[in-house]
Amino acid sequence: MNDATGSAPESAPSRAHAADCGEALDRLFEFLDSECSEVDGDRIREHLADCEPCLAEYDIEDHLKKLVRRSCHEAAPMALHLRIREQLVILRGEYPGS
Ligand SMILES: [Zn+2]
Repeated sequence: MNDATGSAPESAPSRAHAADCGEALDRLFEFLDSECSEVDGDRIREHLADCEPCLAEYDIEDHLKKLVRRSCHEAAPMALHLRIREQLVILRGEYPGS
């Protein structure tokens, strides 16, 4: 069998192919920017469909991105961005640092 081909076998459960949370979040920006390859994009989309926290994160990034695009580029969206991410982390009870 050749398991080194580009096409994933359809028989295996999708869960095995989906990205994990770390990868999904790691590539969220690429994904939003459509810089992911088709395959990676699919895996992340798959993960988002299956993982609420990551989907919520994606939603927020997506909104942010649109907001940033709509407002002009002179604004400093990073501060807003960080604030919203902070809120997210607090809401999730995953405050980093310990
Ligand atoms: Zn996840």
